[in-house]
Amino acid sequence: MRVVPYQEIMQEKLARQEKLLKMGAKRDADGHCFHVGEISPGCRMCFTQEPGSGIQIGTQCMCKCPYCYYDPNRLEESADSIKNKISDFFYQSLRPEQYKATTFSYQSSGETLYYINELEKIALILDNMEKQTGIHQYRFLYTNGILANKEMLIRLKENLGVHEIRFHLSASNFSKLVLKNMELAKEMGFFVTVEEPSWPHHREEIMELLPFFEKIGLKHLDMVEVQISDYNRDAIEKCYPEDKWRAYKDHFYHMYDEGLVYDIMEEVINKGYHFSVIDCSSAVERCRQCKTNQPFRPKIKSDTLKGMCAPWDYGYEELNSATEEQMKKFKDSLIKK
Ligand code: SF4
Repeated sequence: MRVVPYQEIMQEKLARQEKLLKMGAKRDADGHCFHVGEISPGCRMCFTQEPGSGIQIGTQCMCKCPYCYYDPNRLEESADSIKNKISDFFYQSLRPEQYKATTFSYQSSGETLYYINELEKIALILDNMEKQTGIHQYRFLYTNGILANKEMLIRLKENLGVHEIRFHLSASNFSKLVLKNMELAKEMGFFVTVEEPSWPHHREEIMELLPFFEKIGLKHLDMVEVQISDYNRDAIEKCYPEDKWRAYKDHFYHMYDEGLVYDIMEEVINKGYHFSVIDCSSAVERCRQCKTNQPFRPKIKSDTLKGMCAPWDYGYEELNSATEEQMKKFKDSLIKK
């Protein structure tokens, strides 16, 4: 793999985008969101200044993906650190008038479902906050899907209030078990998303799965351009030793997918599939990273977001500061639990 100038990749991407725009793809959020169909409401906050929230718990995972950007030798997060995260969240919840997040993501730097017991505690706090703020949060959860059996899915629905599950299929080498779990999740009424690294070695598997995605009613396919970190650089080099594979620098270094996501989009349009596809590229990562630290934050005009995401009623308009009486009730209810 070799690093090439940013412009070389952008020129190629733009040429593909122009062709896809004529076929019905869209470019929103001032050019940063390139997609086909209405993307998941969970993606919206990456492009806007709107508040989103989430929790990242635990570090352990049963898989060993070569592109994983976390340290493969990371230690397990201590029980104390996890407890602290839960209590921090609890203290935040005592000031619901300041909590305006419209989305919430359950995630981990390992496999999220290993930490279901801890996440259930977070969900109890979230449920109470939702009642206080009147915001109908869009909740989504990331998983490699291996543990997402029926019992687990019931807990996600009933206890965690999850609306969307994002499955990472290649972690299990696209195992039948995970595909089945995904199908079951759809039957149980979750919005089902596949979130995959745009990894050229998986071209065949993903292309072959597109009809299955359509058949089960997949909502959204999120193809993430692989981010290169100190931890995955050597493993990526091993998988892509030849010079024809390219990387480039945006906010981070990324491995160029050599057009994989655009080939998928073309196929989805040509076959008339109903799920959306996003090019979750280095540009999206830049948007996400710049969001928090920008001294100057222009408001993105709402018409650059129109039609970008599937509709979701966040109830944001009804957002009210809690009265003192409401606050008291809220605190009492938490103490009882
Ligand atoms: S499933 Fe996720 S956390 Fe686990 S190794 Fe793969 S990329 Fe890393």
